[in-house]
Amino acid sequence: MNNHDLTRRDLAVVWHPCTQMKDHEHLPMIPIQRGEGVWLEDFDGNRYLDAISSWWVNLFGHAHPYINAAIRRQMADLEHVILAGFTHEPVVRLSERLVAITPPGLSRCFYADNGSAAVEVALKMSFHYWHNRGHKKKNRFICLSNSYHGETLGALAVGDVPLYKSTYGPLLMEVITVPGPDCFGRKPGESCEQVAERMFKVMESTLEKHAQETCAVIVEPLVQCAGGMRMYHPRYLQLLRDACDHYGVHLIADEIAVGFGRTGTLFACEQAIMTPDFLCLSKGLTGGYLPLSVVLTHDLIYDAFYDDYTRLTAFLHSHSYTANPLACTAALATLDLFEREDVIQRNHRLAQVMAESLAPLKDHPHVAEVRQHGMIAAVEMVKNKATGEPYPWQERRGLTLYQHGLRRGALLRPLGHVSYLMPPYVITEAQIQFLAQVLAEGIDLACRD
Ligand SMILES: *Cc1c(COP(=O)(O)O)cnc(C)c1O
Repeated sequence: MNNHDLTRRDLAVVWHPCTQMKDHEHLPMIPIQRGEGVWLEDFDGNRYLDAISSWWVNLFGHAHPYINAAIRRQMADLEHVILAGFTHEPVVRLSERLVAITPPGLSRCFYADNGSAAVEVALKMSFHYWHNRGHKKKNRFICLSNSYHGETLGALAVGDVPLYKSTYGPLLMEVITVPGPDCFGRKPGESCEQVAERMFKVMESTLEKHAQETCAVIVEPLVQCAGGMRMYHPRYLQLLRDACDHYGVHLIADEIAVGFGRTGTLFACEQAIMTPDFLCLSKGLTGGYLPLSVVLTHDLIYDAFYDDYTRLTAFLHSHSYTANPLACTAALATLDLFEREDVIQRNHRLAQVMAESLAPLKDHPHVAEVRQHGMIAAVEMVKNKATGEPYPWQERRGLTLYQHGLRRGALLRPLGHVSYLMPPYVITEAQIQFLAQVLAEGIDLACRD
């Protein structure tokens, strides 16, 4: 088997995600044969450094011996079992540990099998809580501009990235979209904290006006990843927590992308010292091994569903693979790795190297901003640095950077004209410097007239 053979067969039968398939008339598909640590290797023996953790899921590298062994052991005992009426050891242990490490107060774990499904669960649970408590007028959600919460219809509705959303507009529930605290939109001399406080006023007045009809506000804490790695100050989350309490509206924190150490703390909410009513986790939850997601919530929510069967207050939502034991085992092994090594501490050093090695790009004539929150660093390319005028999206300059990365042995996959590093935590300092070098070369190429 070689790259060419497998690619040919692939293009005859596979329909790829988030892809205009016609692009592959000129863009080569990369068939991966094996992974090891930060490296992916194709069928012709080329290697690629996975700078984006395979769509932000991988935390400790590919084919990690410890996680592999844990899954193998679990597989010998039990691959899967229905979770209604039945349970298993991995899901009990995982739930105990998640309750212990997430922000205080979260006490219950409800499982699904992907991020979008977790968002659907949180939205339905919030609505259903108010319903069970007799607040029948609450049926809307508030979300932030430029937010992303997944691709299923409910998750898409509370998102705000037009590229993914606009086509399906007629199918989506109506939401209230509030301009967010994105620090890229700061005025001259303004700090990110000041942007957060200024933009919060819009949220506050929206809550004041719409609290009666609103179930919850949903946010991606600190970094709007799919929206171009746009970042904001934790102050916004503190203010939002207080306001949600004041107006009687739930707060849903979608940490599907930023959870598990991405922003420098185990969970991004920690930086605002707050506990959401619903915490959605997926992606890094299994170290990038298997599909699994979870929504954590607190007793006040749980209790509103707990009653005699005939009162019909139960949350009758399910997915076939809910809390699959192999996936839970991968998650447990991933948590072991966090405990065994001081990952968060080590990441501080790696984040510093990322900052230092990307800093020179700030002076690039087509770089508007280099921004970072922990292990996520992004570089935003613009047409005109002085005015901030973006490149027209049709020019697809990110694609030039992507192709340059592949030639140099790096998997960089820009979001439009924003390129970023979000590597597995087992990356070395030298490998970060290599990626920064490739990124700088790629930006030079991409920004040529
Ligand atoms: C990826 C992502 C989702 C959706 O998760 P899937 O597993 O791809 O459905 C939801 N929210 C955020 C913030 C994400 O980054």
